Amino acid sequence: MKIRNKIVIQGQVQGVGCRPFIYRLASQFDLTGLVFNDSKGVVVEIQGVEASIKEFLKTLEQGSDRQWPPLMNITSIRSTLITEVPAERTFEIRKSPTAADKAAHVTADTATCSECLSEMNDPGDFRYRYPFINCTNCGPRYTIVKTIPYDRCNTTMAGFQMCDKCAEQYNDPNDRRFHAQPVACPECGPVIRQADSNGKDIETDSDKVISGAAAMLRDGKILAIKGLGGFHLAVDAKNETAVQTLRQRKLRDHKPFALMASSVGSVSQYAEVDDVAARLLQSPQSPIVLLPGKGNSDIAPSVGQGLGTLGFMLCYTPLHQLLFAEDGIDVLVMTSANLSDEPLICDNDEAIEKLGGIADAFVMHDRDIYRQVDDSIVHVVEGGAALIRRSRGYSPRPVIMETAAEKQIFAAGADMKNTFCFVKGDQLILSEHIGDLEDSRVYRHYVESIKHRQSLFDIQPEVFVSDLHPSYLSTQYAQSISGSDVIQVQHHWAHIASVLAEYDYHDKVIGLVADGTGLGSDGAVWGCECLIASLGEFERFGHLRYFPLAGGDSASKQALRPLLGLLSNIEAGCDDIINTIEPDGERVRMIQAQISKNINTVQTSSMGRLFDAVAAMLGLGSENQFEAQLPMRLESALQKGVEEAYSVSFMPDGSVMQLDYVPMLNELLEDKQSGVPAGVISAKFHNWAAGAMVEFAMKARQATGIETVALSGGVFCNNYLANRTIQLLKKSGFFVLFKRTVPANDGGVALGQAAIAAERFKA
Ligand code: ZN
Ligand code: ZN
Ligand code: FE
Repeated sequence: MKIRNKIVIQGQVQGVGCRPFIYRLASQFDLTGLVFNDSKGVVVEIQGVEASIKEFLKTLEQGSDRQWPPLMNITSIRSTLITEVPAERTFEIRKSPTAADKAAHVTADTATCSECLSEMNDPGDFRYRYPFINCTNCGPRYTIVKTIPYDRCNTTMAGFQMCDKCAEQYNDPNDRRFHAQPVACPECGPVIRQADSNGKDIETDSDKVISGAAAMLRDGKILAIKGLGGFHLAVDAKNETAVQTLRQRKLRDHKPFALMASSVGSVSQYAEVDDVAARLLQSPQSPIVLLPGKGNSDIAPSVGQGLGTLGFMLCYTPLHQLLFAEDGIDVLVMTSANLSDEPLICDNDEAIEKLGGIADAFVMHDRDIYRQVDDSIVHVVEGGAALIRRSRGYSPRPVIMETAAEKQIFAAGADMKNTFCFVKGDQLILSEHIGDLEDSRVYRHYVESIKHRQSLFDIQPEVFVSDLHPSYLSTQYAQSISGSDVIQVQHHWAHIASVLAEYDYHDKVIGLVADGTGLGSDGAVWGCECLIASLGEFERFGHLRYFPLAGGDSASKQALRPLLGLLSNIEAGCDDIINTIEPDGERVRMIQAQISKNINTVQTSSMGRLFDAVAAMLGLGSENQFEAQLPMRLESALQKGVEEAYSVSFMPDGSVMQLDYVPMLNELLEDKQSGVPAGVISAKFHNWAAGAMVEFAMKARQATGIETVALSGGVFCNNYLANRTIQLLKKSGFFVLFKRTVPANDGGVALGQAAIAAERFKA
């Protein structure tokens, strides 16, 4: 007796080798039928004896490391009995019908796989030393797809006519390249070339381009290299003069530069790599992993800008692999090629126009990047990965909710580190990192990206969500396109909601936020909050005692402003400290007058500004040249192994718990006066912050009985603080939800906004 089942498989199943996998599985169990991609995922019809079908389903559900395509990620399998087809003899892979409903997942870009690498290094292979070798398990996806279904004609590979050899592999279900859309070879595919700083070709022979590029890098020259999601600026990371030249030419760039190496072994020479970090470095996503630097390494000092961490990634394209195989290419600075805070450059002409003054030469190619995607950044928190910037390799993989939303939703995100988010059915589709919207080019990129994604995923939003802040550009954009009311969500509730979305958690939690700034529902600028929150509602249980902050936007750059605000509540004389930070007494008096007269001054509970002020007090600088530079210095200065902490105390009265910073600051000032080293003070301050979070949680647990804590906010990108807070919370018996797959900083806010709206329109 034969039976026939229809199986719908959802998840990351298109363009990852799912259909050939099903084909092989069907032959293994002697089953007939068919498989095709549709708008929702992969559809299988399978026919045979019942026992075999059961075995087939079991293997499909449980998977097996040996058999499963590495990039496949199944989120659901639904199987129903259907009518048998008489006299069926084969199992076939059918062409995709044109998708009417484009909800299927578009896959992220992936680092070159080991099989492709060995072919690339095999002189007998017809893709020997080919810089664009790829297969179903690796290569470009999201960066080259224009629309779905994900077929070659809908990608930037459309213009390359496959040669016979490539076509044969592409059409063979038993081949690793079956339906690998970017498949190509030296005869039929894209090629690299080297151009001078004016964009004029210097070299077009592939091998000579590589060796020429290597020679220039060895020589301390700056190269613009076109990668997977955009251009990088590359320079020898051990050549201080070269790195400094790059900084000078790349005006106003003070951020630490990312590094690229070819192996974990190589990275280990310069940074501490534990097992988790090693796995992340070698993962198909191939992100930049933030690692503790080994102080004695010969990486040029201006790479890390005095911070203790180094950001390393491994070669993730064949072109990188070829370059790093050249003599003397060991570690390169590989920083995103953009000017100051503008969007990443991915177009050849734009690169020549804008980077001509920075790069000594270009390594370009003719495979167009349809959308720019930055390198992702990740750090290791409590034995697992936690993303800081979610882009290449991760985007556009959606976060899946158990319950679908009845309406399609657009969430505008926040203005800093912007991402935006769509809700379609049970998917929360978070965009890749867009940037800071105050730069007009980034804002234009934001608007264009929203339109592109809307058409890529075929979304017509009916519900619009934004931050509470009326002057956020993202809020105004949502208002301008909504045509109706916009749901405005308080910033820190959105931060906590993003954790709940990540874990698909629907009960109330104690939400602990350590953040820079966000507009609060009382008009103050919030930042260190203890919320009792779910996706449906929130209340403010506690916060850092307010301090006055003078000077609007410049307050987040100049540490003097929060410092003077904080010290206005301190009795001890602090003139010495103020003097060393700002010798210009007139400026100090001006800000102090602003504060005392309440002119252009807001009340804030910002944890980020408190970190700025403490860093300044310890002499670590007075200005954030890039976001969170001072807090990063404060963390870098921290002496490990110090268990002492400043006293955590709360204000005596009030309906809302207020964490008082005054006793902490008094103790800190005393330590400073008596010559306690900055590293110890920094540790005691960090320990205070972690301890305060736990105190908040305990008080909230006492009041509500809730035992689950969600942590979020940009200050939790501080590795020490995140680890310590989680450890202390676990010790106190809390169940901790920490941001892992979506950033804790404002890059996660859109996800939280979207999840809150989705909850409201739950099917
Ligand atoms: Zn491959
Ligand atoms: Zn070919
Ligand atoms: Fe925030």
